[in-house]
Amino acid sequence: MLPHPAHSLGVVENNGSVSPKPNVLTPSGSVRTMATIAVTDGMDEKAVARLEKAGHDVVVKHLEKDELLNGALESFDAIIVRSATKLTKEVLEASGDRLKVIGRAGVGVDNIDLMTAGSKGIKVVNAPRASTQSVVELTLGHLLASIRHLPRSDRSLRDGKWEKKAMKGSELSGKALGLIGFGRIAQSVGRVAQAIGMEIHAYDPYLPPKVAKSQGTRLHKTLESLFSNCTHISIHCNLTEETHHLVNAERLASMPHIGKDGSRCGSHIVNCARGGIVDEDAVLQALESGTLTSAALDVFENEPVDPDHPLLQMEHFHGTPHIGASTVEAQGRVGMDIATNVMDALDDRPCDFIVNKAFL
Ligand code: NAD
Repeated sequence: MLPHPAHSLGVVENNGSVSPKPNVLTPSGSVRTMATIAVTDGMDEKAVARLEKAGHDVVVKHLEKDELLNGALESFDAIIVRSATKLTKEVLEASGDRLKVIGRAGVGVDNIDLMTAGSKGIKVVNAPRASTQSVVELTLGHLLASIRHLPRSDRSLRDGKWEKKAMKGSELSGKALGLIGFGRIAQSVGRVAQAIGMEIHAYDPYLPPKVAKSQGTRLHKTLESLFSNCTHISIHCNLTEETHHLVNAERLASMPHIGKDGSRCGSHIVNCARGGIVDEDAVLQALESGTLTSAALDVFENEPVDPDHPLLQMEHFHGTPHIGASTVEAQGRVGMDIATNVMDALDDRPCDFIVNKAFL
């Protein structure tokens, strides 16, 4: 159990259990829930201050899996997580009856069992907009780093070499960029890439075609068509059963190596969405055989990545440790957004960001 000062977690009953803090009546006559909120994967300090200023008690502390399984959440009305804390079926079943809201400080909710949360009446809210721009910029960074050999050049320079010939790259301009998923992040990546001179293609079976059309993007009906038309592919869909290992050997092998402008640019993939969408073994084999020219991943099937992961040995692979949303700007926005959304959900105010409505 988490050590807790009784005054901050509610009222200590005679039997030692902690009952929720009493709610307060606001001047307008509405009832405000005074909650005890666990923040287990860190949060911007201004956002913590915002929750505290509203009268809530906030406990910022990472909880290990065995603590979660042993009732550590029984004393909380809400929990705010990023991706490190896994709120699985078992963890939620061990959370007692007090938990009412789960806040995901970010977009992806694949670390939360939405159905189990819903069956217990727990609302799950996220903060989907806050990190968009940061992920867009990281995606462009990875694309540019791949085609201009930035990680390789840096390694070579540090080895005392001056390998200008080996570092000959290609331009993004004049090439076809295929976006898998055409939501918030992908549409913004598309706009920036268009400004650079790329032709934008997308595959998103859930998107009304007019959205792509209005952005000058060619929407493909199949992934096969997207892969066979694009020298550069960037992944921006959610991780679901349907998208697991969607980037596989066959599709990688079908990518052209000659750009729309006729230049020999090779084939390149970037994944700043979620690990598991890309089959990492297939990427490794494609890099080894040369069917794929480069790969850049911000997200991996198992995180943190095993230091012996074979991709880390590949010359034309580079990666980052899931830092898509790790900017001062995104973290500031995400903290404020999730604080607002958690408070709205606690007080039953209208909230557009409840992601498990279907299971409540
Ligand atoms: P979004 O919901 O706006 O867009 C996702 C799109 O994927 C939607 O348009 C949806 O229709 C589409 N999609 C769903 N299933 C699909 C399928 N089978 N095939 C193709 N498309 C499909 O989300 P977003 O804010 O643009 O985020 C995109 C991804 O980026 C998410 O996976 C999110 O978790 C991830 N993300 C990563 C980081 C990071 O740190 N690297 C940070 C933020 C978001």
